[in-house]
Amino acid sequence: MMDEAKFDKQKYIKIIQEKGAPKSCPLCGSNDWMTVTRNDESTGTMLPTQGIGSYIETITIGCRNCGFLSQHATKILDGEINGGQG
Ligand SMILES: [Zn+2]
Repeated sequence: MMDEAKFDKQKYIKIIQEKGAPKSCPLCGSNDWMTVTRNDESTGTMLPTQGIGSYIETITIGCRNCGFLSQHATKILDGEINGGQG
């Protein structure tokens, strides 16, 4: 299980922004995004997988206007997973 206390939401938001995402919402064109967590102090989200492990830890951002969700794998943001085989 993920250690909730160690999930640094602000760090991942900063990395996502440094990489140039998100731009406007692909569905409605809004630029008003929010992070989606259980509460302000809480965790990222988990995406079930068969490839990398039992779960991929993600941070989810959502469009405040239409609710479109965008999930970002924290291991990729951390540089722990690179493209290529897989
Ligand atoms: Zn939207």
